[in-house]
Amino acid sequence: MKLIIIGAGPGGYETAAEAAAKGIETILISDGPLGGTCLNEGCIPTKTLCAMSAPDQERKAAVISQLQAGIAQLLKASKVTLVQGRAQLAGPRSVSVGDTIYEADAVIIATGSVSASLPIPGADLTVDSTAMLNLTEVPQRLCVIGGGVIGLEFASVYARFGSEVTVLEFCPGVLPRFDVDLAKRLKASLAKRGIRIETSARVTSVTQEEGVRRVHWLKGDKEFQTDADCVLMAVGRRPNLATLDLAAAGIEFTPRGIKVDANMQTNVPGVYAIGDVTGGMMLAHVASAQGRVALAHICGEPCGIDLSLVPAAVFTVPEVATVGLTEEECEGRETAVGKSNYRANGKSVASGEADGYCKVIADRATGRLLGAHILGAHASDLIHEAAVLIALGATAPQARDIIHAHPTVSEVLRDAIADACRRMS
Ligand code: NAD
Repeated sequence: MKLIIIGAGPGGYETAAEAAAKGIETILISDGPLGGTCLNEGCIPTKTLCAMSAPDQERKAAVISQLQAGIAQLLKASKVTLVQGRAQLAGPRSVSVGDTIYEADAVIIATGSVSASLPIPGADLTVDSTAMLNLTEVPQRLCVIGGGVIGLEFASVYARFGSEVTVLEFCPGVLPRFDVDLAKRLKASLAKRGIRIETSARVTSVTQEEGVRRVHWLKGDKEFQTDADCVLMAVGRRPNLATLDLAAAGIEFTPRGIKVDANMQTNVPGVYAIGDVTGGMMLAHVASAQGRVALAHICGEPCGIDLSLVPAAVFTVPEVATVGLTEEECEGRETAVGKSNYRANGKSVASGEADGYCKVIADRATGRLLGAHILGAHASDLIHEAAVLIALGATAPQARDIIHAHPTVSEVLRDAIADACRRMS
């Protein structure tokens, strides 16, 4: 069997390595660097910044090149053929790169996403997250348009670097798709760290006067202006649909992404799409999981991956992590909500990280855990215990009765689960 994968982000390269390991002749085509957005201008460089006290381009480059070498080694060891160049769909299952045509039994499109911008005057005076990662100096004043994941992560990092940060968010709260309670608590935590966050703020234009950028925004009918030395546009990302001639290949798509079924197959049999290019949750681990779903379908094998249960983490200070249903999504359902605070957790208090909160939601009728939401240090690691419990259908009493080592931050989750049990009885 032959497989062509277009795009070498986490979705593309991980699926390629896995396919090749199964004995499938795999060609991975990419016109960008190995690792895609995640490694080169997303997750990894952002987390490198999170671990630094000032922007350090050398360290960032070293981290990227070390991980890129790892991917190159993985692809070589698994015998994936890597083709550098711009792919075009030449037929239902053939792809051209320059004058060379590659044929395969299946094609997986994994071309990712690009930064979105607002259609406002002066948008060109703003920078996107990629440019933000290349800054060598800390702006004295940073204005962030968009209080989503990218906006708040950069706000957090640059506030720590010493910038005076203002975040302008269009919705009534930050992180609009997250549990509202948790998002409100995050907003309060960030405000305590000196970040100014304006919600229900509609940015209308950006102007420049004597090198200073002025962001004009409305709250209700009232007009405001925020001066800044750097303005970050972080209002979302959009699927990268322009690089392939999808329409000519007969592949259905909308501006929100390529349409796929539950097996990640497009309307054209044998052509699959995974990751950001399909819209939905634009997360590296979702792309990788979708790649495994597509690969299983191509091989005619069963696949146990539940694409509806996705842990997500936001690397602010404090971190936010979430899995399963939010309280808002449980509306109309009989639930018990258990809560715990980091300030009652010995390890967190001892390590000076006592600003945090954990909430779990359990179904009253079955006792099963439905969702977990954590704000606080190590939330991005803790959330996976909740993901495992939910995935395996554990009830709150079962989870409560699993012994947790003391003193560990994991007791925060156990305490919230125990609280949910008390509320169920
Ligand atoms: P996002 O959708 O998370 O947030 C965009 C924010 O901009 C939203 O809060 C939205 O309400 C706001 N907005 C939209 N129009 C606006 C306007 N006119 N004025 C002010 N605010 C406006 O998108 P993002 O933060 O740009 O991130 C893009 C994608 O990348 C997301 O899917 C995100 O999940 C992913 N990502 C994930 C991580 C992570 O998992 N840690 C990190 C970075 C990015």
